[in-house]
Amino acid sequence: MILDQYRMNWNYPTSMRVGVGRVSELAEACRQLGMRAPLLCTDPGLAALPMIDAALRQCRDAGLNAGLFSAIKGNPTGANVTDGVAAFKAGGHDGVIAFGGGSALDAGKAIALMVGQDRPLWDFEDIGDNASRVNVAGMAPVVAVPTTAGTGSEVGRASVITDDAAHVKRIIFHARMLPALVILDPELTVGLPANITAATGMDALSHSLEAFCSPLFHPMAEGIALEGMRLVQQYLPRAVAQGADVEARLQMLVASSMGATAFQRGLGAMHALAHPLGALYDAHHGLLNAVLMPYVLVANRGAIEPQMEKMARYLALPGSGFNAVLDWVLALRSEVGIPHSLSEIGIDDARIEQVGRMAEVDPSAGTNPISFSAMQYSALLEEALRGML
Ligand SMILES: [Zn+2]
Repeated sequence: MILDQYRMNWNYPTSMRVGVGRVSELAEACRQLGMRAPLLCTDPGLAALPMIDAALRQCRDAGLNAGLFSAIKGNPTGANVTDGVAAFKAGGHDGVIAFGGGSALDAGKAIALMVGQDRPLWDFEDIGDNASRVNVAGMAPVVAVPTTAGTGSEVGRASVITDDAAHVKRIIFHARMLPALVILDPELTVGLPANITAATGMDALSHSLEAFCSPLFHPMAEGIALEGMRLVQQYLPRAVAQGADVEARLQMLVASSMGATAFQRGLGAMHALAHPLGALYDAHHGLLNAVLMPYVLVANRGAIEPQMEKMARYLALPGSGFNAVLDWVLALRSEVGIPHSLSEIGIDDARIEQVGRMAEVDPSAGTNPISFSAMQYSALLEEALRGML
């Protein structure tokens, strides 16, 4: 299937080449950014697959001195980034191909940042004006090639990196971390198992949904969030049920990029809880958000009724307002096989207070429509653990 109608070059939020088979333009994309020796950063699971072999071969056939770095964990760590920087320098590389799911994209973007800095990674955590410390001229260019549809990190200006020593996820931010060129090729995602398709797709939904509920004035992001959610509504069940449905896969890649574009308006309590839970339990980020979603909606109900009314109308849901959205989220979640409670995905009740305290100060908490205290976050977590809705 070629699906010519979806073959497009877009110019916002960055240069994006969209369409079936467009990974064949990878080497040319590297050249366009001035690379002669790209370092392809991916995770160990993907590194063993033919698609990485093919990408490296394509680059080498085009005369590029391409290298491979794949020592990246599911939740990438500061040490992963340091190792990647060492590989970049040892191989004489001049650019990064960030190729994979959220972890590989985030690690690749952080490596490209850090190859030109004298300060340690945590000095660039997204706090105050830390970003002004970045030596922009030293940053390496990045081509981003997502192989999952969820994080949207290919159009994000930050990387989430786990600080192993402190057991927290830190957001590393600079506006120029937005990859200069993105390739959205749905054929790279057709092999994803249904459960990963579901969890990552629900992450994309959580980005649009939390951005849509953010109290900040940003109508542009609001519009993108609405259509991003509609694409998930229409295409996620198809992508999960029939992994080889290239049209559904392509639309989910777009929905994922849209979610990450929308969340320049901010995220909320789903992510404020998912970040500490991911750091403490090494649980899947998208799956955490998917399980947490209805509990957070209920907790936010008093502040989001007008938004839920708009959303229910745009998605043409049966019924109206908050209940229509909640019913849809619960039905979608069960249709794509997401468990109902956090206890079903290996989270225990040993650290409810600690997670509550971490959620309260998580950067995502700042744009939740209601400002929850640590105790309120703990109570919310307890409901999600026990499945109390
Ligand atoms: Zn997320």
